[in-house]
This record gives sequence, structure tokens and C-alpha cells, in this order.
Amino acid sequence: MVRAGPKRFAAFGKVVRRPERYDILTTFHDLGLSKTIVATLSALGFEKATPIQEKAIPLVLEGNDLIGLAQTGTGKTAAFGLPMIEKMLADSRRPDPRNIRALILAPTRELVNQIADNLRDFVKKTPLRVVTVVGGASINKQTEMLSRGTDILVATPGRLLDLVARKAVTLTQARYLVLDEADQMLDLGFIHDLRKISKLVPKNRQTLLFSATMPKLIAELAGEYLVNPKKVEVTPPGKAADKVEQYVHFVPGKDQKTQILKQTLTANPDGLSLVFSRTKHGAEKLMKHLDQVGFKAASIHGNKSQGQRERALKAFRDGEVRVLVATDVAARGIDIPGVTHVYNYDLPEVPDAYVHRIGRTARNGRDGIAIAFCAPDDVLLLRDIERLMGIEIAVASGERPAAATAGPGGKSRKGRGGQRPARQGQAQQAQPQQAKGERAHGRPQQKQGERQNRNHGGGGGNGQPARNRRPRPQGQGQRREQA
Ligand code: AMP
Repeated sequence: MVRAGPKRFAAFGKVVRRPERYDILTTFHDLGLSKTIVATLSALGFEKATPIQEKAIPLVLEGNDLIGLAQTGTGKTAAFGLPMIEKMLADSRRPDPRNIRALILAPTRELVNQIADNLRDFVKKTPLRVVTVVGGASINKQTEMLSRGTDILVATPGRLLDLVARKAVTLTQARYLVLDEADQMLDLGFIHDLRKISKLVPKNRQTLLFSATMPKLIAELAGEYLVNPKKVEVTPPGKAADKVEQYVHFVPGKDQKTQILKQTLTANPDGLSLVFSRTKHGAEKLMKHLDQVGFKAASIHGNKSQGQRERALKAFRDGEVRVLVATDVAARGIDIPGVTHVYNYDLPEVPDAYVHRIGRTARNGRDGIAIAFCAPDDVLLLRDIERLMGIEIAVASGERPAAATAGPGGKSRKGRGGQRPARQGQAQQAQPQQAKGERAHGRPQQKQGERQNRNHGGGGGNGQPARNRRPRPQGQGQRREQA
């Protein structure tokens, strides 16, 4: 968006003079944030608001309940955090002992810590106190932290309820409730906890709900907890990963997945690779194998202690570890800007999870590559993913089985990976064996037959959406195990 010309516009009662010509994004001052906050942001290198911030900040400042459809990486923490902090500063009350003024719920320990780290940066020059409570850490220490009164509490739902039950904290003074990664909280079975918590926070609160996707249950939840919410959206569901080049390898089994993975990792020694495994056990086994054969690898999943996870994440973020093998739950929402490759070693059972996974790369304006492995058992999972995204992922090696075409409901639109030329060297790395039909220079194949398949559907021929006929994939029903 390029707007031209000197222009005056109203922002919260103030008339602000726009610069002569400016590109793309609004400044935080324009959005109605105070000088103190703008100065803090400037020191952090935040000069312009991201699209979600541009849309959400004015609405939150005005006091609206809000539904934000946005992924981690879009700047959503600041989108809800900054206006909330601004309003809390304007109302200079201090919290009573064991009370809080604002509550932010997130599904995992890592996300809680990430959100709190961001908020602590924002409140540095203010008297506001940010406290975190998460499972797997000392409850006594958390009780002590809460005893002094807390401005902003960032918590996972289960541990928060434990602390409420112990009377370490009450939520009756809270005026803000933020549900972050709401879809993931539902996936993890936090629905009952959320219901309990929302009843403990007074009704005269402002509620903000952020979610990367909007499944029906989230919409219902929003209807229950939010009052006349405004809706802002920056990445329509299924389109989150537009900037990511996507490829798929059709492989006969796990051995080939590991082989291709190792070859691609070897070809990208400077890359930071996030590898998704369906199970904790699988993640650990793969990490150990990669480590044994000389890759700098670590893993994060539910069998790791918080300390281990944090160390692994730090080592990955710092580039000491180049390969992080993770389950969905452990990696959800993690913001590591330098991730160059996301591997779907196992395809996720839920198509939305694919969008979340590949959204871990191509952050902050960088490019990213997502490589999926599709074994014969995964073909229908791939088809569901492609339908959700409305694309067909470019084939890097192997043959696309007929059953893997997008079928009815798919938009038969060529995916980004198929449209863009492969980056120098990249596709070659992605295909160790020149499978039948592949191009020698390694570009994803786009055979005539595939294009035809895409257009004639391929849902199986009986006119019924193939989704309904999907066999239960291996490992389904183990989703909680991944946490
Ligand atoms: P989030 O989506 O909140 O996890 O933010 C993703 C990353 O972008 C975080 O590392 C933020 O510190 C950073 N960030 C958020 N907003 C801005 C901004 N307006 N300018 C620069 N960086 C930002």
C-alpha cells in the first residue's frame, strides 16, 4: 500500500500530519500510542506497525473486544500487548497482593515465556510487573511472585487453575483477558479450563482472542466469551504461508525420508532447520540418529523438561544447534526468525497444523522453504492439506499418486512452490535420487499428467468428498501424546 501526498487524518482525537509520502506501514504514534511507549518501541527497533498491529491497536485502545486471526510471527503480541499496556498505564491503579490486572493465557510454556519476554521489553520504563506461571516449574516460587500483586499475568491454563485453587491468586480485579493461540488451546483439551477461568474473570473486562485458524469451536467460544467483538485478520486460514516455497517428496517409507533429510541438511550447512515429527518417541529417535551421524541436532517435545526445552531452543536460536526436531505442541508458535527450512518429516494429522508448521519459516520478510515427506500412508493427509491451502505442492521427488490430487473442493490452483523457480541449488539438494520423471536440474516436476489430475478432481470417482472416506491414519488418537 503506497499512499501519496500530504494528508491529515484523525487518530484518537489528535490530528496527525502524515509524512509527505510513506510506504506500507503506519507508525505507532499514528495509532494512538503515547510517547513513552513509542520511545521504548523505537529503542527496540520497532518503527512501523505490522498489519495486525495497525488494525488491532486502535480497536483495543477504543475498548473493543477483539478476535484476531493471525499467526505468531505477525507481531500479534504487540498488537494486543501495547494497547493493553497503554490503557493500564493511563489507569494508574496498583494491583492488590495476590491480584492481577490482566491475564494472558497461552497453550505452552514456551509461548508463555515468549509472550512475557516481549511484554517485559515493552514495560521496561514503566512500573508494570509481568509474571509468568507455567506447569513444570516451581509452584512455590510462582506463589511467591504472585503474592506481591501482578499487573500482567501470562499463564498456561492448568497451572493457573492450580494456583487459584491454592488461593495464591484471584482473578477478580482482572480487566483484560487475552486468549492467545486459542485454536491450539482447544486442540490441547484446555476448553474446560478456559471455561472455568473465564468465569473467574469479571464480566466488565475486555477480552481479546487470537487464533491462527477459526474452527467452529473457536467461533462458538468467541460467541460465549466476547461481547460485540471486532474482527481483524491478517492471514486468511490456509493462506498463512504464501511466502514459503513448498515441496513434497513422495517416498516409500521412513528410511528414504531420513536419507533425503540428511542430504538436504548436508547441502544447507548454514541453514536452521525445524523438523516435525508426529510423536515424541519419533522425534527423539530421529534427533539421536542425526546427532550420531554428525548433525548438530536437538529435540523439543513433551518428554523433555522445561529446562531441556529452553536450552534446546536457545541453542537453536543462537545457531549452535542447526536442526531442531519437534512435535507440533512443543514447537507451536515458537518465534525463531532465522529458520530457513521446515521439514514435515511426518505429515500432520490435522491440515491446519501444516500451515502452522511452515509458518515457522519465512519470517520477518525472509524467504523460507518447506519440505514435506509423503509416504503411501500419508497420501490422504497430503490431499487434505492441499485442499485447505487451495494449492498443489510441487513434487521434488517420487511420483504423486492419483489419490493425492486435491480432488473436489481443491481449487486446482498451482501452489507457490510450483510457480516459482527453484532457488539455485535448493531443489537439487531436495532430491537425492533422480526419480522417474524428475528433471535433471532438480526443479520440481510438473508433468502434463499431474496438471490433468488436478483438474479432473481425483476424489475417488463417486462424487463424495474424499475427506469423508479417509481411513484413520496411523497414530491418530495419539494427539495428546505429542504434548
Ligand atoms: P509475534 O507475532 O508477536 O510473536 O512477533 C514476532 C516477532 O516480531 C517478535 O520477535 C517481535 O519482537 C517482532 N515484532 C513485532 N512487531 C514488530 C514491529 N512492529 N517491528 C519490528 N519487529 C516487530
